[in-house]
Amino acid sequence: MTGSAYEPTQNFCKHILGKMNITTTWFDPLIGAGISDLIRPNTQIIVLESPGSITMEVQDIPAIVQAVRVTKPAIVIMLDNTWSAGVLLKALDLGVDISIQAGTKYIIGHSDGMIGTAVANTRCWDQLREQSYLMGQMVDADTAYMASRGLRTLGIRLQQHEENGLCIARWLTQRPEVAIVNHPALPSCKGHEVFMRDFSGASGLFSFVLKQRLSDTQLAYYLNNFEYFSIAYSWGGFESLILANQPEELSAIRPAGGIDFTGTLIRLHIGLENSDDLINDLSDGFVRIAQSSDIN
Ligand SMILES: *Cc1c(COP(=O)(O)O)cnc(C)c1O
Repeated sequence: MTGSAYEPTQNFCKHILGKMNITTTWFDPLIGAGISDLIRPNTQIIVLESPGSITMEVQDIPAIVQAVRVTKPAIVIMLDNTWSAGVLLKALDLGVDISIQAGTKYIIGHSDGMIGTAVANTRCWDQLREQSYLMGQMVDADTAYMASRGLRTLGIRLQQHEENGLCIARWLTQRPEVAIVNHPALPSCKGHEVFMRDFSGASGLFSFVLKQRLSDTQLAYYLNNFEYFSIAYSWGGFESLILANQPEELSAIRPAGGIDFTGTLIRLHIGLENSDDLINDLSDGFVRIAQSSDIN
């Protein structure tokens, strides 16, 4: 499993599969064809997530797929494709066997329903279908209705998330407080070239790292006073969200390493609001950081 996977996915491996004597090897998301060196006779599944959770590394999926197919063709390659909403990255066309998605995010689009999707190629379809049925993975009628309604506006919403997100990411690159912007469509993001080759666009989720490491007091003053950005995990809806992580918190959920910065990381989900309003809100946030630099 990629070391940049969503934390609960990592925990499923550690705490549930671990009890069943299934071991997990973690790899650098930028490993590419180097994955061959980690494949063992008992390797059954490779799990990718691109871009990676929070730190946004874009994986070279075709290079990984090709290396796996040469080394041990029977391995099932899975991808968490939530960031692209299953639209901006055609996972099965790139050779992935099973593409999963938290439909809770962009498909639902309004942060008010929970649903997951999994699609598979011919090779894995029968097994996926049987397992999901036997495990009792059902969806209720109301959520199915909300998901199908969400699909009707998904394309146009994604365009607006992309436009607003890029506008704000570019604005952040000009700010003196910011060390790096991890937006896959910008050259500063790890795997940017791969993103330009494989994705047809960007969604609204990205992160940036401050030059400074904020104290708890500074962080509270910064995060608690936004007008538009709410503190919340479940992105993909119409509204803008913000979260912060200190480098050591991220190191704890990066079993293959890769945290190479010392400032506080801020993750943004850019919603469908007016982008000038969002920029003004973020700008006021930087003023709060400056004001609070003596109260830490
Ligand atoms: C939110 C999220 C999930 C889980 O989604 P739920 O529908 O809330 O269970 C899985 N993977 C990624 C990348 C996510 O962001």
